[in-house]
Amino acid sequence: MKAHKIIQNIQNEKYIIDEITYLLATKNQSEADLLYTAAHQQCLNVYGENVFIRGIIELSNNCSKNCNYCGIRRGNSKVERYRISPQDAVELAVSAEKVGYKTMVIQSGEDAYYDDKLVDIIREIKKNTDIAITLSVGEKPYDLYKEWKKAGADRFLLRIETTNQELFKTLHPDDDLDHRTECLYNLKKLDYEVGTGIMIGLPGQTLEMIAKDIIFFKELNADMIGVGPFIPHEDTPFKDHKSSDFELTLRVVALTRLVTKSANIPATTAMGTLDKTGRQKALKVGANVIMPNFTPQSYRKNYQLYDNKICINEGADQCRGCIESMAVDAGKKIVIDKGFRKKI
Ligand code: SAH
Ligand code: SF4
Repeated sequence: MKAHKIIQNIQNEKYIIDEITYLLATKNQSEADLLYTAAHQQCLNVYGENVFIRGIIELSNNCSKNCNYCGIRRGNSKVERYRISPQDAVELAVSAEKVGYKTMVIQSGEDAYYDDKLVDIIREIKKNTDIAITLSVGEKPYDLYKEWKKAGADRFLLRIETTNQELFKTLHPDDDLDHRTECLYNLKKLDYEVGTGIMIGLPGQTLEMIAKDIIFFKELNADMIGVGPFIPHEDTPFKDHKSSDFELTLRVVALTRLVTKSANIPATTAMGTLDKTGRQKALKVGANVIMPNFTPQSYRKNYQLYDNKICINEGADQCRGCIESMAVDAGKKIVIDKGFRKKI
């Protein structure tokens, strides 16, 4: 079977765009299953049955950017904007630690309001807890990334979204692929654990583009990779495009695991939105992380990056319980651990 040979090549670190594209495209279910089994095994080899959890705080839905796919883009006047105060952010991290989180992800739109404030937020969290801090707050100057690192930030997530210049332009009226890439390399230089990722099923995206994105993850030596389906939001220019095919997202998760071997790969909320058991499925084909929402309930409905986002009406405690059973369904278990990338 052709898939068998391709999987072997990848395991031997031979990454050929046409071959990766073939595995993304194959309609032969036994070939797809071969890929899923190999990816799952690779994940078990590195992380065993362990699933890391990271609580997310959606700090602010103010954003100076206008990405065409995103529900909280600057141009969406229907969004009720909010900012969580620095003091509340610190308190949230303290309470997250009490219920067993060892990592918090602080995510927001690109909101300059927090540029300086994050220094204090990070310091205070570090002073009052023993948790790892991941930032996901967009493109910022090198010196600011440096200050946040000095204050104690451990990781940074910045999805490249696509590595294709033309596609990137159609998605981002006010952004530049080279600049975003430079930010990722700056974060690397500053010794953050660096996360990136893409959306699957973007209008105009081809399988070959996705294959090249996967190779980019390897070239960057990314420590974390978040891949999720594109899901339209009704108040964006992309409202009439259709959601990604779930199976394709699953293939990308599996191939990302095979190619990167040890990167931390979340079973994303968007996968759970597109398919009720999407996160469990991802945990069985290479994903090893879940990121439950820790944003206070009253804000959640205003952080809708896409339509029908799940877990909007649940409280943090419910999310925690739900995640436990999700891991068990996938034959895995949640571990209380900061969850740094394993060196292999
Ligand atoms: N502002 C920061 C972080 C918040 S957005 C940034 O852009 O990096 C976090 C992620 O949400 C984005 O990277 C994007 O991949 C995802 N996202 C945004 N809109 C989406 C949509 N319509 N469907 C699926 N994912 C989406
Ligand atoms: Fe802002 Fe991020 Fe949404 Fe783009 S994806 S509009 S940067 S929150």
